[in-house]
Amino acid sequence: MVDIASISAGLTSIKTALDITKELRNIDSLLKDAEVKLKLADLIEALSEAKIQVSEIRVENQELRNKLKELENQLYQTDEVFFDKGHYFLKSPKEGEAQGPYCARCYSDNGKLFPESELPSTFHDLGRYRCPKCSSVTM
Ligand SMILES: [Zn+2]
Repeated sequence: MVDIASISAGLTSIKTALDITKELRNIDSLLKDAEVKLKLADLIEALSEAKIQVSEIRVENQELRNKLKELENQLYQTDEVFFDKGHYFLKSPKEGEAQGPYCARCYSDNGKLFPESELPSTFHDLGRYRCPKCSSVTM
């Protein structure tokens, strides 16, 4: 789990890397190669740490986005519809109305139900349903 402390650590690593870069720029050319090599090693370490921390933050961010979407979808459940596996369905469709699936994105964004059309089976690796309104493809 990434927290604020990890984000701060990532930013500190990046700042350290930048500081080292500045030091490298200012090192007198008369100094020995060893000092430059040492600074470069520090730089590589700081950048590696920053990279790891950024990727942890990215994963965490994606998980939070997914959770948010899920909660948004739950929030929009009403007496009229229910949410299942990424789609909305009417609880009791009237005559001539399809029970579903309806586009989750459109319903979350503007509260309107758009029936999704099923894609031909050759496209099922990409997705099973397509929304005619927002063109989102879902499984
Ligand atoms: Zn849509």
